Amino acid sequence: MATGQRDYYEVLGVERSADAQELKRAYRKLAMEYHPDRNGSEDAAEKFKEINQAYEVLSDDQKRGAYDRFGHAGVDGTGGPGGFDGFSHFDGFGDIFETFFGGGSRGGRRRRGPARGADLRYNMRLTFEEAVFGAEKEIEFQRQERCATCAGKGAEPGTELATCPECNGAGEIRRSQQSIFGQFVNVTACARCSGEGRIVPNPCEECRGTGRTRQTRKIAVKVPAGVDDGAQIRISNEGEAGARGGEQGNLYVVLNIAEHERFQRVEDHIVLELPINVAQAALGAELNVPTLDGEVEMEIPAGTQSGEDFVLRGKGVPHLRGTGRGDMVIRVTVVVPESLTDDQRGLLEQLAQTMGTPTLPKRNRGFFERIRDAMAG
Ligand SMILES: [Zn+2]
Ligand SMILES: [Zn+2]
Repeated sequence: MATGQRDYYEVLGVERSADAQELKRAYRKLAMEYHPDRNGSEDAAEKFKEINQAYEVLSDDQKRGAYDRFGHAGVDGTGGPGGFDGFSHFDGFGDIFETFFGGGSRGGRRRRGPARGADLRYNMRLTFEEAVFGAEKEIEFQRQERCATCAGKGAEPGTELATCPECNGAGEIRRSQQSIFGQFVNVTACARCSGEGRIVPNPCEECRGTGRTRQTRKIAVKVPAGVDDGAQIRISNEGEAGARGGEQGNLYVVLNIAEHERFQRVEDHIVLELPINVAQAALGAELNVPTLDGEVEMEIPAGTQSGEDFVLRGKGVPHLRGTGRGDMVIRVTVVVPESLTDDQRGLLEQLAQTMGTPTLPKRNRGFFERIRDAMAG
């Protein structure tokens, strides 16, 4: 039965001294390469089977020990031919699919290797103008950083990490169980080493063995022009360091944009409410109006109605994606005076004698027409 089988270390392409992580890495790479769903070549299924057999044996400390001493004869009947179709491979498959679908480091527990650091969220306040035109802001915050004294290993300089005696460095405890479906392997993270496979006999004094220290950090954040309230900027690898050399998390800067006292933003357009008086509306006027680019002189034509819009093309907010800018909409409100001087009252009384009851001007549409227009799109 054992004749003609390749050496398991050779199958995975690793040294005989390879540790659990190296084995897993080699296994994952090969399993993905030869997975029959992905690899169309004739011998893919056979190769895939062989890779799984090799990993099944070498990832189990007991079986690996037996294999090292007795070769294939030491593990026949468990990892050898015939033992393959059991449930024991689900663990391996699970890990591959996690990688395929981008799970991996987030959400799912990682059993081996140091854990990834936490993501951080920073709430950044911006003025209306900073959001419109972009800004470069410096932010300061505290985070866990890799300990400089022990380079993140957690061990006092000059001392080494040790293999966890509980799991022999695998980071997980495997227990074989029999069920009516056959044998399967129950895998749990090792509690002694938190799944890292290593323990720290002499903890670093600076970080007390965690491999991390709390530091104040300043970084510059480039805010692009045109961002909107609630937008997030992701800055990769500026989150917290992982414990004992784990990957760094990300920093998410969440933007909180202040309101402008006169401008209202609607997507990439700016709306300005412009109050004018009755005389300006009837006679026309030249007014200074504020825009994002400073004040401009604007002509209000004679006969302007309340609620009329004037559009300044391309004077709105720069588009975040692509080029160009939105528009600026100036919405006129004719304000009827609430109190009058005697002179004004006299003039208006003269007007009242010459002006009859008006009809609604065409361009100042009534309420129902507006609704009908809106419904027609
Ligand atoms: Zn340290
Ligand atoms: Zn352990």
